[in-house]
Amino acid sequence: MASGVYVAADYFGWKSLKFACRNCGWRGNGADCPLGEVFAQLFEVDCPACGEHVAAVPFPTLKESRRNWKKLDAAERLSIQIIEQRQKEFEARFLKSPSRLPEIAESSFLLYSEADDSGTAEDTLIRLGEKVMWREPAVYRASPGSATWPKFFSVGMASG
Ligand SMILES: [Zn+2]
Repeated sequence: MASGVYVAADYFGWKSLKFACRNCGWRGNGADCPLGEVFAQLFEVDCPACGEHVAAVPFPTLKESRRNWKKLDAAERLSIQIIEQRQKEFEARFLKSPSRLPEIAESSFLLYSEADDSGTAEDTLIRLGEKVMWREPAVYRASPGSATWPKFFSVGMASG
C-alpha cells in the first residue's frame, strides 16, 4: 500500500473521472475501478490492476443528494428517503428537554439509557430503575458529512 493523499472525487461523477494509479501506473475511468473499503463518511475506489486506492469518495449530504436526485439510482433514492423519514421521526420524538420526562419523586436518582432493538426499529430507552421514562428513535443524524448524534447522553436534572 503506497502512502500519500489520494483524490477525493465527486460522489455523483466519480465513475466518469479519469484516475491514475500511483502504484502500478494503471490509468482509466472510475467506472472500471472496484469499490474498496466503505467507511461512515466515504468509500475508497481501488485500482483494478493492483488493488491500490486511487480515490476516496465522500458520501453526499442529504441536500447534495436532493440536488442531484436524477443522478441517483433507485436504491440510493430509497436510502435517502429512509434517512429523511428517520430524521423526521427522530425530530418528532427525541427528548428535547428534561422537563418532558415524567415527574420523579426521588430527590436523588440515576437515569440511564439503553438500546432497545426488540421492535422493528431500534429505540433508545431512558430508564429510572426498571421504569421506562422516555423512548425515542435510536437514529443518528444520519446525513454523512454532518455531525453524528451521540447515542449516549446525559440528562441534566435539578435536584429536588
Ligand atoms: Zn494500480
